[in-house]
Amino acid sequence: MVKICCIGAGYVGGPTMAVIAFKCPTVEVAVVDISVPRITAWNSDKLPIYEPGLDEVVKKCRGKNLFFSNETEKHVAAADVVFVSVNTPTKTSGLGAGKAADLTYWESAARMIADVSKSSKIVVEKSTVPVKTAEAIEKILTHNSKGIKFQVLSNPEFLSEGTAITDLFNPDRVLIGGREETPGGLKAIQTLKDVYAHWVPHERIICTNLWSAELSKLAANAFLAQRISSVNSISALCEATGANVSQVSSAVGKDSRIGQKFLNASVGFGGSCFQKDILNLVYICECNGLPEVANYWRQVIKINDYQKSRFVNRIVSSMFNTVSGKKIGILGFSFKKDTGDTRETPAIDVCRGLLSDKAQLIIYDPQVPEAQMIKDLSTPKFDWDQPSQNIHIAEDAVKQSVKVVHDAYEAAKDAHAICILTEWDEFKSLDYQKIYNNMPKPAYMFDGRNVADVAKLRQIGFIVYSIGKPLDP
Ligand code: NAD
Repeated sequence: MVKICCIGAGYVGGPTMAVIAFKCPTVEVAVVDISVPRITAWNSDKLPIYEPGLDEVVKKCRGKNLFFSNETEKHVAAADVVFVSVNTPTKTSGLGAGKAADLTYWESAARMIADVSKSSKIVVEKSTVPVKTAEAIEKILTHNSKGIKFQVLSNPEFLSEGTAITDLFNPDRVLIGGREETPGGLKAIQTLKDVYAHWVPHERIICTNLWSAELSKLAANAFLAQRISSVNSISALCEATGANVSQVSSAVGKDSRIGQKFLNASVGFGGSCFQKDILNLVYICECNGLPEVANYWRQVIKINDYQKSRFVNRIVSSMFNTVSGKKIGILGFSFKKDTGDTRETPAIDVCRGLLSDKAQLIIYDPQVPEAQMIKDLSTPKFDWDQPSQNIHIAEDAVKQSVKVVHDAYEAAKDAHAICILTEWDEFKSLDYQKIYNNMPKPAYMFDGRNVADVAKLRQIGFIVYSIGKPLDP
């Protein structure tokens, strides 16, 4: 029986390992983490992350061939294959601050693996890391290993939060980067291929050299984010000219070379990965003497920031140039539907923008707890572009101006405006007539996700702003 250990029981480590355990009954999987509350939650009925289908998969395997534990060293020592899926956030101080990946967690995991290993192991990069990280990891492992042999592979994860389980069950591709040419290299690659071959068709398992695999993950996220910034840049032009971004996206996407996916205009992309991975790419380009390439990718994030501030400005300017003392109902706080994850959610920037103009916010999200929202809004924001101008709203001030409620109607009641910031399905079928009846007039709708039926809302009486759509006559 192959023994797998995964260091890091987060949004990637938890679901990916649960699916490996589910699909490979002959493989034993231990997922370990330094966080006691996280592991306690993985072992409880209330998993630490919300992801459709995850509960069923975990419940089927937990205690059989899937284990969650804080005993990291014990499980690492016993494993044949060690996945490392720790966080790799953007550095906030020192060399590369605001751009480079912070590899502190990775380094300490690698040192621990070297320390506790008494048998040879395959170490798999599951986290997204800068290209060439494997070289540094190999150095840490070999210099601290007391003669034990390690093979480092890159196996970046392409799952998308909200659809993680279906993505893992049916991946577009599984990418494995390794060193075929070194002794044991081919065998290590084959061991990992054999794990995925339990359910992934042979032709979807792609093998490359280490650096291609590492860079492919950064490039894939950069391309995805670039599509969103491209359509968002066009949405601004639509608003200025009377074109409709949905019609433009549909016409553009019909070209089979372009395709329809990821062409929805919105208030901007969020999530823990896109911005951090592009900043990382920018930094790597700069370090490799490629400033023009760095500037090209930097612009993807600048457009995203511009889109969020454009949205806030539109709200304020539409409402007689001030939202001071006005109630604004916020529908949705997570960075996308079907996840409770709020990392880099555009809602943070939009809410902060409104709070800085002294609005009163009533927020509803079906998955994000109140404490998380208050924490997000009061945690100092690190401004990647201008680190000297970090933005901070004190927790007391946030608590005075923010009320968190448990349904959309409550959020909209007595509000001067409602603002959709996450595309949760339930927001499509709300009784907007009822909502309108309970709002002071004029009643505004600012749709940051293009989910509302603009014509119907206008018929009810709302003044509607929908990203990239013609404005009210
Ligand atoms: P996460 O913050 O949810 O999880 C990381 C976990 O690692 C945390 O629970 C943390 O406590 C744990 N950890 C850190 N250092 C540790 C150590 N030394 N020993 C044991 N545990 C340790 O992060 P995530 O969203 O799962 O992302 C993990 C990596 O995967 C990142 O590099 C990310 O860029 C990448 N990734 C994320 C996604 C996504 O959608 N979230 C998708 C693809 C790739």
